[in-house]
Amino acid sequence: MALIVQKYGGTSVGSPERIQAVADRIITWREQGDDVVVVVSAMSGETNRLLNLISAIDTKGSKREQDVIISTGEQVTIGLLCLALESKQCAAKSYTGAQVKVLTDQSHGKARIVDIDSAKIHADLQTGHVVVVAGFQGVDDSGSITTLGRGGSDTTAVALAVALKADECQIYTDVDGVYTTDPRMVPEAQHITKLSLEEMLELASQGSKVLQIRAVEFAHKYNMPIRVLSSFDHGVKGRSTLVTAEEEVMEKVVVRGIAFNRDEAQLTISGVPDQPGVAFKILGPIAEANIEVDMIVQNAGTDQLTDFTFTVHRNDYTQAHDILCALSDTMGARGCSGDNRIAKVSIVGVGMRSHAGVAKDMFQCLANEGINIRMISTSEIKVSVVVDEKYLELAVRSLHEAFGLDQAI
Ligand code: ASP
Ligand code: MG
Repeated sequence: MALIVQKYGGTSVGSPERIQAVADRIITWREQGDDVVVVVSAMSGETNRLLNLISAIDTKGSKREQDVIISTGEQVTIGLLCLALESKQCAAKSYTGAQVKVLTDQSHGKARIVDIDSAKIHADLQTGHVVVVAGFQGVDDSGSITTLGRGGSDTTAVALAVALKADECQIYTDVDGVYTTDPRMVPEAQHITKLSLEEMLELASQGSKVLQIRAVEFAHKYNMPIRVLSSFDHGVKGRSTLVTAEEEVMEKVVVRGIAFNRDEAQLTISGVPDQPGVAFKILGPIAEANIEVDMIVQNAGTDQLTDFTFTVHRNDYTQAHDILCALSDTMGARGCSGDNRIAKVSIVGVGMRSHAGVAKDMFQCLANEGINIRMISTSEIKVSVVVDEKYLELAVRSLHEAFGLDQAI
């Protein structure tokens, strides 16, 4: 007997029929003797509908009140799912985040979970209930409703699994797992049966959209295995991907997968004095404007001058560009420039730790295709490059083939 936490995303609970199907699936798990705690998202499209209602009144209004509104979608699905379970003779009980309680900090719209009180859930499990918890929401220490950011139900599920010491956190979605790259771009992409949490963390941070980054961070920190499955599979235990501790993953391939991200923009300030404090002078004002920086490259200085290049989210491009050009004037730099038509491609795999030359193979592959690399960054288990956006697809396809990822293993 195991304790499992299951999360069903918006499309999985997108209609009354889908909710009935989810209830049937939960009952099958129960019948195997497992204890089940379920986290649900709002019905697909609902959170956007609520956000549109907010826009129709005032987008700049109180974040506290916005959270009151956008947290309601999940309250509807927990109730509907419990009704469906009960109509099928399965005892069930729903909780909002505040009722559990999922205690968060006060950053409305992007709150972080601080603590989860699992006492009520344990008691309900003991009396044979399926417990259904609203994802994406919590409550701060003053009692205000908070939300965790888009896609936050994944984080609720992982955090609950950790708090309950569950055996596994299952994320049901509309795909049956993690692939070597996005199959919509590369039809030859292969399904991955098992990968490490660290690999998933890199893939998610480099652009893979299957799991929310924060959820993977949480799972990695507490070593909670995540299984990604499709709620559209007919069998209850269809194909899935297990994301787990590295020791559990026998197959240490060099490159596990390729992630990409089109949401970036590149900025350069050139001819700045090569002296202590420059990086701080440049990136300080960017950070103060709440703009997150991803890659950073500073050239080796010549003639006491250096160039500084970094990437930001494309939505922040104009603002970052304005800040940088103003800085360029005050610092007496040679100039500032930027490009918001770039994309980042990353290869990820724990096997890279013990294999030299992976970066070289990547660069050779891109060179063969005539693709210019504009920036490079590496970690122990990842190599990322920035290329012109128009070459993104070609880069992903050729790397996928060059590293043999289109071959089933
Ligand atoms: N309903 C929320 C959203 O659409 C949370 C979630 O689905 O995970 O972002
Ligand atoms: Mg979602």
